[in-house]
Amino acid sequence: MAEFDLAIIGGGINGVGIARDAAGRGLRVLLVEQNDLASGTSSASTKLIHGGLRYLEHGALRLVREALAEREVLLRMAPHLIRPMRFVVPPNPNLYAASRLRLGLFLYDRLGGRKILPATRTLDLTHHIVGAPLKRRYRFGFEYSDCWVDDARLVVLNAVDAAERGAVIRTRTRCVRAEREESWRLILKAKGQREVVSARALVNAAGPWVADVAETVLRAPAPGRVRLDKGSHIVVPRLFEHDRGYLLPTADRRVVFALPFERDFTMIGTTDAEFAGDPGSAVPTLGEIDYLCDSVSEYFRERVGSEDVVWAFAGVRALYDDGTGNVKDTTRDYQLDLQEHFHEAPLLTVYGGKITTYRRLAEAALGRLRHFFKLSAEWTSGSTLPGGDFVYDGADALVTQARQSWPFLAESNLRRLIGAYGTRLGRVLGSARDRNDLGPWFGDELSAAEVRYLVRHEWARTAEDVLWRRSKLGLRLTQPQSNELVGFMANIAG
Ligand code: FAD
Repeated sequence: MAEFDLAIIGGGINGVGIARDAAGRGLRVLLVEQNDLASGTSSASTKLIHGGLRYLEHGALRLVREALAEREVLLRMAPHLIRPMRFVVPPNPNLYAASRLRLGLFLYDRLGGRKILPATRTLDLTHHIVGAPLKRRYRFGFEYSDCWVDDARLVVLNAVDAAERGAVIRTRTRCVRAEREESWRLILKAKGQREVVSARALVNAAGPWVADVAETVLRAPAPGRVRLDKGSHIVVPRLFEHDRGYLLPTADRRVVFALPFERDFTMIGTTDAEFAGDPGSAVPTLGEIDYLCDSVSEYFRERVGSEDVVWAFAGVRALYDDGTGNVKDTTRDYQLDLQEHFHEAPLLTVYGGKITTYRRLAEAALGRLRHFFKLSAEWTSGSTLPGGDFVYDGADALVTQARQSWPFLAESNLRRLIGAYGTRLGRVLGSARDRNDLGPWFGDELSAAEVRYLVRHEWARTAEDVLWRRSKLGLRLTQPQSNELVGFMANIAG
């Protein structure tokens, strides 16, 4: 008998979402990720849980409706990682007529059903705080709702939940070969060691590596075609003092977002360009950085230049190739392909998808395998992720409680910690009575206690895992502080 019912290649949002859903339905699940969880595209997104206002233009109504409805489902599932955000759009008469925007936002408000998120309204930018950083010529704008998410932590907490439901999650484990018989025989490589495992069904959720895995691991060309599309973001010191984001139409008929980020910063993105090569090697080019700086400088009074950039990152989308000529018009919807033959174990291949729709994608994936396994009913829509078992607007109350339990920590740090661990913060900080109980410290905000928790419970192995995926404290630590963390982790992570 095979050791696992379902093996999944890829620890991005789609792989962990499927692992969690399947484990919750009683399947014996194995997920392998060649690097760290979320080390691929799923930590390099714009971090929006959104319907995609722009996709309305392409008539992608199914995707927009599903994604809009998912906003409040996910907000209730993970209110620590996800928060409602208002977005300001200043119409630019040369690019998007106000009447067209108004119509788009009217549809956006009505398509997906809203109970929590407020509706669109018009703003007088000359008398509103959101108009203050903008050039004088932007005199009015629209404000609409979507949500913001910590994408990498969303991946990690899905993996934590999957593991708590019995899934085996193996990071830094590469699937190098998969042989198909009545069950799958998988050859895994971790720390230079080879290991063979078996599974009744296999999911290829390798994101932008999906075709590569098909060719080199499964040794069968991928059934569908993918287009790889790189998107870059930059992070600069904070450009504005409020908590809204901006959606800014650009001269090439796209949009660029400027979003509040990690308290003291603004994140700007994204670009859209065809990509070839190893997705792991994608980096922002100088041309992309200039494009993003120029796009926001068109709107903001203060010019943004490449010298302001404190961090930049790129990710690669695997878009299902629906035959459209242009990358920016290619569908962002997901596609699932199931291959099954008599006496051969099934193979499910995942194409495309969005962070926003990962839970629905997982449901659809298991739906495709329903006749193969005896599966219980869908269950994830009313569930919560670890630490997310509180009301969607209850983060402030948790911070107040945390201030009483750990009064020696700064309010800003407690806010960050609640945003990361929610109701599980007690597991990270325990009964510490002063800062020394949590130390040593790496900079003002990162304690050894938190690092130990991330190593023991969230698969963190390197300083980069901690500083750029489990948190974004990489933006705050100095080089010597990061070096100390590297040394500390070498001792405890093994
Ligand atoms: P990935 O996250 O790339 O995961 C695949 C994993 O497979 C990788 O971690 C890789 O290491 C692993 N892997 C590959 N080969 C092997 C192997 N042989 N063995 C083991 N592991 C292997 N969506 C939204 O909803 N909102 C947004 O705002 C948004 N913005 C975006 C902005 C950009 C620039 C991009 C590129 C995408 C954006 N998306 C957004 C889309 C979203 O980020 C992706 O659809 C999603 O992250 C894809 O997840 P994935 O799990 O399919 O792929």
